[in-house]
Formats: sequence, structure tokens, C-alpha cells
Amino acid sequence: MSKVNTVLGAIPAEELGVVAVHEHIGYGMPGSELDTKWWASPEERYAETVPKLRKFHEYGGGTFVDVTGICNGRDVDYYKSLSAKTGVHIVACTGFVGGDTALPFFARASVEYLAEHFVHEITEGIGRTGSRAGVIKVGVSRGGRMTELDKRIYRAAARAALTTGVPILTHLAIDAENAIAIFNEEGLPLDRVLFGHADDGVNAEKTRDTWIAKQGGRVGFDTFGYETELEDPPFWARPRKERLDHFLRFILTEGFLGQALASADANCSPLGWPGVKGHTVNYIFEDLIPDLRAAGVDEATIRTLFVENPADFLTIRN
Ligand SMILES: [Zn+2]
Repeated sequence: MSKVNTVLGAIPAEELGVVAVHEHIGYGMPGSELDTKWWASPEERYAETVPKLRKFHEYGGGTFVDVTGICNGRDVDYYKSLSAKTGVHIVACTGFVGGDTALPFFARASVEYLAEHFVHEITEGIGRTGSRAGVIKVGVSRGGRMTELDKRIYRAAARAALTTGVPILTHLAIDAENAIAIFNEEGLPLDRVLFGHADDGVNAEKTRDTWIAKQGGRVGFDTFGYETELEDPPFWARPRKERLDHFLRFILTEGFLGQALASADANCSPLGWPGVKGHTVNYIFEDLIPDLRAAGVDEATIRTLFVENPADFLTIRN
């Protein structure tokens, strides 16, 4: 049976429904929880997050994949209660957003140690929560090139993916040659990897999305909604039409629909920073899907993007 690890237990992939494949319940830099300026009570965090997840559920959203890595505010007991309260399946990750957000304890660890840790979180559970990770997060540190630590994390992730059958999702798809070399060396099929943020305003030009797809990788257009049209756009914003045209070109003209995934990379309740006003996971339903329909994309294609492709990607492969 095909199954996917959620924070409340494994479920058949057919039950995932519409999936937001790259999102955050709350993302912050390591240590932000120590700055009193940003302290929020559990009540405040629930008040900010529950309505967004309830709305997601009302719109027909089934599954929210939280790719907040270890050290960036991942809080699995909280995710469990959010999932129970709202009916949204939540998938949690193991791994790191990038080498530059791994705390020294992990930054000094060997490939073997890291791989064992990832495997433990996937097969035994994360901490004492009893919840198993459903995806492995890796990423490229600031600077645009993979660091030695990034490479160690990618290699450990590849080994954990092979051992457990859980897929890998990347923060940034730049410097993909180095990433793919590691995955190839470890013998990991590239359809187990979703190369993320191919569409953001800073990296889109530098990301070889069609080359990655030709190697067999999956490509994430997963910063939808970070638009220059926002009231106070972040530095990675991009004009709405430019991103949409890029996506349509990739899935329709270049024919990579089967390897494409889309998401909003929003924070329900940001940690240690104000977040980006006016942007939530529900961009998928409120703007993106209507934009796709207006561009002539049919319902079967929309289903492929948000139901079938993520189910195939997230299914634990034995
Ligand atoms: Zn993200």
C-alpha cells in the first residue's frame, strides 16, 4: 500500500487530496526563540494559524507539508494539535533548510551521523513526539554555491532517502550540478528529489529548471504569491505575470507537467521576523488556481499539479 507519514500517523497517498507541498507553520532563524521581542504565547500562535488552516481546509486543501527544518522552529507537538483541530493533514520534515541554519552541534556532525539522525526521525519519530518525518529538507546556504556542510547534508539526505524511501525537497535549485552529482554518486533516482524555489525573483534566472527536469528531477515553483505587487514585497519577490508565464512555459510549452510542483512557501506564523503581509498558503486557492484557469489550464492539469504529482512524490518508496 502506498503511504505517507503525517504528524498524526501514516496515511494512504490517495487520502492526501490537494497538497501544498512547500509551506511553513512558522519559520525563523535559529535563536529567534531567545529574543523576547518576538515571544508569542501559544494562544497568539493558534489565533494566527488556525484560521488559515481552516480556510485551507474549506477551500478543499487536504495536506500541508511543513518544510521548516531542524533548528528553524520546527515544533511537531504543535503541528499535531493543529492537524487534529483543523482536519488538515500535516507532513513534517527532517533535515535542514541549509548548512547555514544548522546549529554547531549538527554542523560538526559527519555524513554518517546526519544520515542516522534523519533515518531515526523518519522511522522512529521526531524527538518524543512519536511523529515520523515524511520528507527530508536540504538546501544551499547563502552565497549561491553549496558549502562543504551543505554537501555533507545532501549526501546524508540521499542515504536516508534510499534507506527509508522518503523523498528529498530542496531549498533553492541553484548549483544543481553539485547536488545532482552527489545524488548520482549515492545512487538516488532523481525523481525522489524536488528541486525547490525555481521561480523566485532572485534565483529564477540562475536556476536551470529545464536541465534539472531533463536529468529526471522534479522542479518546484513554490514561491507563488511573493509578488512585487504586494504592499511591502520581500527581496525575493517577482512580478506575478512573469512568474506565471515562467510556470506555464515549463509545464505546457516545455512539457514538464509531470515533474512540476507548485506551492506558496508562506508562513502561518513567522518566528523572529514580521513575515510578509498579505501572503498565506491560501494564495494557492485564491489566486494561483484562478490564474491557471484564466490562462486556459484545464481541471485535469490542475489535479495533476496539486493532487497526483505530490502524491507520487510523497509516497514512501519501498
Ligand atoms: Zn520554505
